[in-house]
Amino acid sequence: MNGRTKGFNLLELIKKVVFTDFVKGLSITLGYNVSRSITQRYPDEEKWIPYRRWRGLHYLNRDAEGRELCVACELCSKACPTQCITVVPMEDDSGRGIADRVAKVWKVDLVRCLYCGYCEDACPTRAVRLGREYETACTDLASTVRRREELLVPQALAENIEGGVLVKSRLVRTPEGIKVEPDLRRHKKRSL
Ligand code: SF4
Ligand code: SF4
Repeated sequence: MNGRTKGFNLLELIKKVVFTDFVKGLSITLGYNVSRSITQRYPDEEKWIPYRRWRGLHYLNRDAEGRELCVACELCSKACPTQCITVVPMEDDSGRGIADRVAKVWKVDLVRCLYCGYCEDACPTRAVRLGREYETACTDLASTVRRREELLVPQALAENIEGGVLVKSRLVRTPEGIKVEPDLRRHKKRSL
């Protein structure tokens, strides 16, 4: 046995005698006891705002005049790897023909959706976007299919709201049930 091995063993022996590892472990445990709690009080007090690149529930955009941007070209449904988007086109009653084509039906089956974002990449008018709404849990299968009428309602988290943070939240009673609303009054916005 050379001197180096002997020195190493002596060090190990001293560590065992003075319970170094035990003291180190205990100090970590005690440290957690006095540190600030990181429990997220969701949904009663806080809500997490996802990053801007987050891909959550879809929404359908309108232009500045409130007209739907979707021209029912079906490119999103063709690009979708799981074929979970259904688009049925129709012409509106303006009489201006195919130029005013809109979607009669636009629906997405969230059970089959991969949130890959191919649909928004394929959309020529930026009509379909994946938003930052992530509370899509439901108790019946019918609610997993989201239709054009629901998707045209703007989401609470606009695209220019910064993400990756916790904000205050409040519970709001709506005809559809209780919803968690983030309090974005003092939250940072940025231009797109
Ligand atoms: S995110 Fe992907 S899987 Fe989901 S609807 Fe769009 S293309 Fe289809
Ligand atoms: S959402 Fe976009 S890609 Fe899909 S049908 Fe409408 S315009 Fe076409």
